[in-house]
Amino acid sequence: MTTIQAPAYRLILRSSAIHGSGCYAGEPIPAGAFIIEYTGERIPAAEAYRREADPGRPGIYTFWTGLNGGNESRFINHCCTPNCDYRIENGRVFIHAARPIAAGEELSIDYSYSPEGERIPCGCGSPACRGRINSL
Ligand SMILES: [Zn+2]
Repeated sequence: MTTIQAPAYRLILRSSAIHGSGCYAGEPIPAGAFIIEYTGERIPAAEAYRREADPGRPGIYTFWTGLNGGNESRFINHCCTPNCDYRIENGRVFIHAARPIAAGEELSIDYSYSPEGERIPCGCGSPACRGRINSL
């Protein structure tokens, strides 16, 4: 059995300007630092598209859908200019800071949906928003 690595920094969940609930840094996080292991449900891209199309779930769908019992990682929203990235090691997903993150900043990653899939509109609000969650 795999032991899930605990978050390395204090994280705060509250409503997000991007979508639904968001995950915020509760303290400064240096560039490159490990933040949290993703523990939620991993779904194929096609399933993410299907759920996004569900009229009961308007807006940006959280690609990494959390199951009950998942940790704060499931609240990390997509942004086209994210402050986090993720590394996959032995089938596990580790989220790291892509740059220094200030206390109170919302954590975000680039979901990079397949460009071949259905286009999912993005409303992340970044000046460099590419208008869709799919990669170009
Ligand atoms: Zn965007």
